[in-house]
Amino acid sequence: MKLSWRVVLLWALPILLIGFFFWQGAFSSNAADTGRNTASTRMTYGRFLDYLDAGRVTAVDLYDGGRTAIVEAADPQIDNRLQRWRVDLPGNTPELITRLKAADVSLDSHPIRNDGALWGILGNLLFPFLLIGGLFFLFRRSSNVPGGPGQAMNFGKSKARFMMEAKTGVMFDDVAGIEEAKEELQEVVTFLKKPERFTAVGARIPKGVLLVGPPGTGKTLLAKAISGEAGVPFFSISGSEFVEMFVGVGASRVRDLFKKAKENAPCIIFIDEIDAVGRQRGAGIGGGNDEREQTLNQLLTEMDGFEGNTGIIIIAATNRADVLDSALLRPGRFDRQIMVDPPDVKGRLEILNVHARNKKLADEISLEAIARRTPGFTGADLANLLNEAAILTARRRKDAITMAEVDAAVDRVVAGMEGTPLVDSKSKRLIAYHEVGHAIIGTLVKAHDPVQKVTLIPRGQAQGLTWFTPSEEQSLISRAQILARIKGALGGRAAEDVIFGDSEVTTGAGNDLQQVTAMARQMVTRFGMSDLGPLSLEDSQGEVFLGRDWLNRSEYSEQIASRIDGQVRLIVDRCYSEARQIMIDNRVVIDRLVDLLIEKETIDGDEFRQIVSEYTTVPEKEELVSQI
Ligand code: ADP
Ligand code: MG
Ligand code: ZN
Repeated sequence: MKLSWRVVLLWALPILLIGFFFWQGAFSSNAADTGRNTASTRMTYGRFLDYLDAGRVTAVDLYDGGRTAIVEAADPQIDNRLQRWRVDLPGNTPELITRLKAADVSLDSHPIRNDGALWGILGNLLFPFLLIGGLFFLFRRSSNVPGGPGQAMNFGKSKARFMMEAKTGVMFDDVAGIEEAKEELQEVVTFLKKPERFTAVGARIPKGVLLVGPPGTGKTLLAKAISGEAGVPFFSISGSEFVEMFVGVGASRVRDLFKKAKENAPCIIFIDEIDAVGRQRGAGIGGGNDEREQTLNQLLTEMDGFEGNTGIIIIAATNRADVLDSALLRPGRFDRQIMVDPPDVKGRLEILNVHARNKKLADEISLEAIARRTPGFTGADLANLLNEAAILTARRRKDAITMAEVDAAVDRVVAGMEGTPLVDSKSKRLIAYHEVGHAIIGTLVKAHDPVQKVTLIPRGQAQGLTWFTPSEEQSLISRAQILARIKGALGGRAAEDVIFGDSEVTTGAGNDLQQVTAMARQMVTRFGMSDLGPLSLEDSQGEVFLGRDWLNRSEYSEQIASRIDGQVRLIVDRCYSEARQIMIDNRVVIDRLVDLLIEKETIDGDEFRQIVSEYTTVPEKEELVSQI
C-alpha cells in the first residue's frame, strides 16, 4: 500500500510538471485569439484622448476590468477608414466612461475571462504548491517505510504504530471449538466489566494473559472477543513492530502504547507475536540484541508500573511459549497461560457452524462430514475452506454450496491448485503405477490409514496423488502405524521398481523418500523404537534457538551416530523389501487398477478396496471413531 502510493506520486509529479507546461502553453495560445490581440497596433492613451476629442472614436471595448481597451476609430492617415487599436488605460476611470458616453461612442465591457491572465496567475501559484505538497507528501510517506530517508529525522519521537479499535464487533459466539480457553477468558471479561466484585474481596486482578497456540487457531479472534464482550477499546500491536533498527524506538513505542491505554482504561492491550520481543535476554550469539532487550525491559517496567485494578488487561499471543523470557511469565505479569489448541472433530464442527452462518449451503451438505474429513485443520483453515467452496460455487454459477465444491476446496487447501491431467503416455503409466503402489499398501497393510481416493489429476507439485483418510487421534502413534506409513510411502518407488525395473525408477519418489527417512530417523532417535533401545537422542526438530540450544544440545558419540544410521537403514530396508513383495504378490490386480485409473483418472477408496478384495483378502481397518 505504502509503496504503491509512493510509486504513484513519483509518476504523478513529472506528469504534473509536463502537464503544467502544456497547460500554460495552451492558455497563452488561447489568449492570442481574444479580441484585444486582433488589434495589431497599439495606440497611446494620449492619442486615444485626442481622437476621442476629435470625434473619431466610434467604439470602445473594455477588457481586463478596464485596463485595456480595443478602440475603433477613423484613421486620418488612411482616408478615415475605421481601424482598431489596442490602448492601455490607466485603470478604470469613471470620467473616461462619462466622456465616452457623452461622445456617443458605442461602449462595451468584457468581463475578465477565466483563461489567460487569471489562470496564468493561478497556475503559477498552484504549481509550486503542488510541487511542495507532493514532495512533502512523498517525504512523509517514505518516513513510514522502515529505513526510509525520513526515518532518521524523527526516530525517538516514535510513531505510534499500534491500532486502536473502539469496538471490535467480535463476540464469544464468533469463536468456537476452543471451549476451555473461552471459559477461562470469560473471567477476564468480568474483571473488565465489574472490577468491584473482585477488589471488594481483596482479589488482585490479573494483568496479563498469554495465549499460546499454533497460527490460525483463533488467538487474535479471542482477544478481540474479550474486548467485544466487555465493551472496551482494543489496542493492538505486533511484537515485530517493536523491534526497530534504531535503539530506543521499541521502548518508546511501548511507553506510548501504555500511555494511550491508560487514557482509555478500561481496555485491552493485545500484543501479537510477543516472542519477537520477549525472547530470553542475553540469548543471542554475539552479545544479544540490545534493542530487543530494552524494549522488553520497558514492557516489564510498564507492566509493573500500573496497579492491577486500573482496568487494563494485557493479552499476548505466541506460538512458542518455551522461548519467552522467564521474567515475562512471573506472577504479576503474564501469569495466566491459556493454551489454544487446534480443534478436535467436535470443535471443527462448531467452527464450521460459525462460518456457515453467512453462507448458503445446499441441504445435502453435512458439516459433520466436513469436520471428519479435516483433521489437523485450524479455525483459520476451516474459514478459508468454506470461503474457497463459496468462491467455487459462485464460479460454477450455482446458488448454494454443495458437497462437490466443499470436496474440491478441501483438496485445494490441502494439496494446492488442480492442474491439467497428462495425456496417455509412458510417464502417465508410470505415475499410475506409482500411485497404485501407495494405495495398494495403504489397503493391504492393516495399520495404515484407509485409502480415500487415488487420482492422476495433478495438484500443486504432485503429478498424481493418493489420499488417505487420516484418523482423528493423531497425537499417539504406534510403532506399527509408523512402519505402515513408511511402507506406504515406499510403495510408489517399489511399484516403479518391480514393474519397470531397477534402471527405470524415477525422481518422482523424492518426496516420499524424504518422509521415509525422517520417520525412520525419529523412530530411532526420539521414540526409542529401534534396537538401540528406549533412548532419546535428539530433541524435536524445531529450529535451533540460537545461543541456547546450540551450545548445549544433547551430544552423542561418533559411535552412536553410526549406529543410528545403521538402524535407520535397517528399518527402511526391511520396509522396502516388504513393499516390493506386496507389489510382486499382487501384480495382477495392480495392472487392472492401473488400467482403470488411466481410464477414469480417479478411483475412490471404496471401489479400490472392492476391486482388490476380488483378488486377495483386505484386512478390516478400525472404524473411524468420531465422537460428535
Ligand atoms: P491466530 O491469531 O491464532 O493466528 P486468528 O485469530 O487470526 O488466528 O484467526 C484467523 C481467522 O480464522 C479468524 O479471523 C477466524 O475467521 C478464523 N478462526 C480461527 N479460529 C477460529 C475459531 N476458534 N472459531 C471461529 N473462527 C476461527
Ligand atoms: Mg493472530
Ligand atoms: Zn509418491
